[in-house]
Amino acid sequence: MKKGLLIVLSGPSGAGKGTVYNAVTERMPELKKSISVTTRAPRPGEIDGVHYYFRTVKEYGIMKERGEFLETAEVYKNFYGTPQAPVFAMLEKGEDVFFEIDIQGAKQIKAKYPECVSVFIMPPSFEILEQRLRGRGTEDENSLLTRIGSARGELAQYKNFDYIVFNDNVTSATQNVINIIEAERCNILRNEKKILKMLEN
Ligand code: 5GP
Repeated sequence: MKKGLLIVLSGPSGAGKGTVYNAVTERMPELKKSISVTTRAPRPGEIDGVHYYFRTVKEYGIMKERGEFLETAEVYKNFYGTPQAPVFAMLEKGEDVFFEIDIQGAKQIKAKYPECVSVFIMPPSFEILEQRLRGRGTEDENSLLTRIGSARGELAQYKNFDYIVFNDNVTSATQNVINIIEAERCNILRNEKKILKMLEN
C-alpha cells in the first residue's frame, strides 16, 4: 500500500462532479491534483499543463503504447488519460491525490489499484440531470442528446464504487466527500505502520 490516499471522484455527466470537485479542493488545499492528458481542443482560457496536457491523437497513442497511463478512456469522441508516474510519485511521498474522471477510467483505477477510494456523485433525479445538462449550455443539441443517452447507462455503474454521494445541493455533497476523505484517513489498515511503530517504542 502506498503512503498517500488516492481519491477518485466520478459520476455521470451532469451530476455536478466538477462543481463538487472544485469545492472540495478549495476546502482541502492539501490535496494534490493530477493533470490529465486529452486529445480534445482547449476551450477559451484553458492552458496546456495547467488544465490539461493537450496532445494530438498520435502523441496520445504513443503515450498509451508506452504504458504511461494509469487509466485511459474515450469520452465523447476524445481521449483522456491520467499519467501514472506523477500520481504514484505523490502517493509514495505520502501525499493524498484527488481527481475527477469519467466512470470508465474510475473502474480501471479500481482494478489496477484497489486501495483507491472511489466516490460516485449521483444526481438527485434523472430529470434534474437532464435539466443540468441543458442548462449548462456548453453543448450543441447533438452532443447533448449523446450525453443524456449515455447518462442512464452510467447511473447503473454505481456498484463499482466504494461510496455514493447524492448531489441534492453542492454544499452538502461537498461536505459528504470531505467526510469520506477524513474517515478514510483514519482507516485502521492505512494507519497500521504508524500504530506498529508506536507499539515498538
Ligand atoms: P471535459 O472535456 O469537459 O473537461 O471533460 C469531459 C469528461 O472527461 C468529464 O467527465 C471528466 O470527468 C472526464 N475526464 C477528465 N480527465 C479525465 C481523465 O484523465 N480520465 C478519464 N477517464 N476521464 C477524464
